[in-house]
This record gives sequence, C-alpha cells and structure tokens, in this order.
Amino acid sequence: MRQRIGILGGTFNPIHYGHLAAAEEVGGRLRLDRVLFIPSYLPPHKAEEKIPSAAHRTAMVLLAIAGNPRFSLSEIEINRGGRSYTVDTIEELRSLYPGAKLFFLTGVDSFLEIRTWHQWERLLGLCAFVVLSRPGYRFSDLLIIDFMQKAAKDIIALDNGEVDQVEIEAGKAHFYLEMISHYEISSTDIRNRVREGLSIKYLLPEPVEHYIITNELYA
Ligand code: ATP
Ligand code: MG
Repeated sequence: MRQRIGILGGTFNPIHYGHLAAAEEVGGRLRLDRVLFIPSYLPPHKAEEKIPSAAHRTAMVLLAIAGNPRFSLSEIEINRGGRSYTVDTIEELRSLYPGAKLFFLTGVDSFLEIRTWHQWERLLGLCAFVVLSRPGYRFSDLLIIDFMQKAAKDIIALDNGEVDQVEIEAGKAHFYLEMISHYEISSTDIRNRVREGLSIKYLLPEPVEHYIITNELYA
C-alpha cells in the first residue's frame, strides 16, 4: 500500500491544540500513516514584528508532538532557509518519499489565500489538499475561487452540517474539504494573552507553555 503522508506547515508561533487536534482528527479520517509538522523558516505572508527563531519554534513543535508516534517534525523549510514556499517543500518531499501519497493540510483561512501562493497552479497538481474548517470561517467563502464553484451545492451542505467531507477533483488537483471539531485557538491570540499577562493554560500542551515562560517568548 502507498504510504499516506499528511503535511502541516505553519509558523507554529507557537504550536497549539488547534493544530494538534486538527491533525489527529483528519489523520484518522483520511487514514494517514503519519503527519509531518513543518515549521516555516520565513513565512511568505507574515510581516510579523519579531518572530522567535526557528530553533525556538522547532523546540516547541517537538515538545508538543512527543508521545504521538504518528506525528513527526520535518526541518526541511528551516534547512532550506529563505522564504518558505510550499511548492518547494512539496517538490522536496516528493523526491524524499517517492511513491507516497502526500496530503497538504491547511486551515480554510490560509487556503482562502491560495491564489497568492508562489506558483499556486503548479502546486495544486503536486499533492492532494485537505482544507480544514476553522471557527470564524465558512467553506462557502471558497466559492470566490473558480475551481470550487462546481461543488457549490456540496460546499453549502458542508457549512450547514449536512455532510462532514466534500471531495473535489479538478484536473490534476484533488481537494478534501473537512468539517472538523472546532478549537477556537490561534497563535495570535496566545501571543496577545502572554503580552497581557493572561493565562494560556489549556490552549497548548503544558511543556510548550513552560517553554514560553522559561524563554520569555512574547513577553
Ligand atoms: P497565527 O495567528 O500566527 O496566524 P495560527 O494559529 O493561524 O497562527 P499557523 O501557524 O498560522 O497558526 O497555522 C498553520 C496552519 O494550521 C494553517 O493552515 C492554519 O489555517 C491551521 N490552523 C491553525 N489553527 C487552527 C485551528 N484552530 N483549527 C484549524 N486549523 C488551524
Ligand atoms: Mg495563521
């Protein structure tokens, strides 16, 4: 059987339960053998004040995924350096895992920007895309993207909770839209909470919370 590999890219600034729960849920649903967590070196879309070093963000990912044998860290974007373009990452993974079926996982918030991604049309033909629901976003927002329009009815049914998955094939591209359990957690909110001296307990794994405090991140 072809190995099925999920890929979750992100700034992971910091990693939180929203990422972990989404990867676990969809990993089960799509029978993924493993999920690679790939911290970006320089996120192309984030002109953030000051992002903690790749070493800090990687350390937090490692603490968060310890204990889940299906989750692993990949440092390919960090080792490559420069701006982290998904298209380069997927090409590299395709040669690292020849014969595997690759699934790129992304929240619907990020996927809405797909047409701004580097070489996005080529990218869509390189692996399957798994678009995850996220509180505050609707799948029907994707209908502004023309290749989503042929599935309009199904996408509306997904938002209405009548189905929990819509699969779309469009030429070489393959999409799975997945309604998953919602965790109203974002890294932005966690950073703001730390800055304001508020608790971040139960938003991310405890070792990550301790790491943030010990290293005075976001303070
Ligand atoms: P930030 O607020 O800094 O943008 P974030 O919480 O969105 O952080 P990212 O590192 O940007 O985290 O996210 C990596 C990927 O995980 C993106 O595709 C994003 O859409 C997805 N993701 C993040 N949080 C959730 C969540 N709570 N539910 C579903 N998907 C999520
Ligand atoms: Mg984000």
